[in-house]
Amino acid sequence: MAREKLELVEVSPRDGLQNEPEIVSTGDKLALIEKVLAAGFRRLEAGSFVNPKKVPQMADGDAVFAGLPKREDAHFIALALNPRGVERALAAGAREINYVFCTSDGFSIRNNGGTVDETFRVWPEVARTAQTGGARLSATVSTAFGCPFDGETPLADVVRVAERCAEQNIFELALADTIGVASPRDVRERFRAVKAALPSSIQLRAHFHNTRNTALANAVAAIEEGVRVLDGSLAGIGGCPFAPGAAGNVPTEDLVYMFERMGFDTGVDLDLAVEAARFVGRVLGKSTPGMVSRAPKWPK
Ligand code: ZN
Repeated sequence: MAREKLELVEVSPRDGLQNEPEIVSTGDKLALIEKVLAAGFRRLEAGSFVNPKKVPQMADGDAVFAGLPKREDAHFIALALNPRGVERALAAGAREINYVFCTSDGFSIRNNGGTVDETFRVWPEVARTAQTGGARLSATVSTAFGCPFDGETPLADVVRVAERCAEQNIFELALADTIGVASPRDVRERFRAVKAALPSSIQLRAHFHNTRNTALANAVAAIEEGVRVLDGSLAGIGGCPFAPGAAGNVPTEDLVYMFERMGFDTGVDLDLAVEAARFVGRVLGKSTPGMVSRAPKWPK
């Protein structure tokens, strides 16, 4: 029997690196992307087009996109937070744009430069620009489980923001636990509510951080709610410049190990994913939180 497919989106080149204080060279970013593709990933966050003064690690987005391998079977995601970022991403050759909204004004003002309502004013323009530029568009609802400034995120706010995202032509909507506060119960509740509110044509994606060691449990909960697209960051690196204390993303190689053992087909070679995770550690020159890459190989 064919195994059920599970898409893992590798975010280390963007979410993983964005908070690293030492600038990683464009060459090392492209080398990482090569290893990500070699491991079998076919969708990854390659960079973001945000204010380089605020996120200096992502200032070379144009150069990274210019250096990407030309292959039709891979999707390289560009993250943007405003119309200018979308235009820059398109000019750099991006064909998939992930646009981020927040559920809370506290985070939205710091991360997106305006309140939630203010950021939605440009949404029709963003969608038009992406479409005219030939890029598919996804939306991420960040702080969907809690905000470092405003506290608990009400479920109704998440559903409302998701509905507003779906007013434009998006193929996918992600719920992001930006600061790693979600429990599996929250994940079930929120994905269930958003699924019920959105057209079924919009696929759902989950983005977890492991700040409080709940990310793997949350990933399983998302899968049990029918989510078939999960973000991960090799070696478990990552954080957010605007979310104090935000720790790394769920380590992708740990997701690969667990979900392959649960019978899913991720399309990813675990050994090569582990190799790529170790490469991340070498580039950053430090030990990283992922566990499978430090464990003995299994099965032997
Ligand atoms: Zn993240």
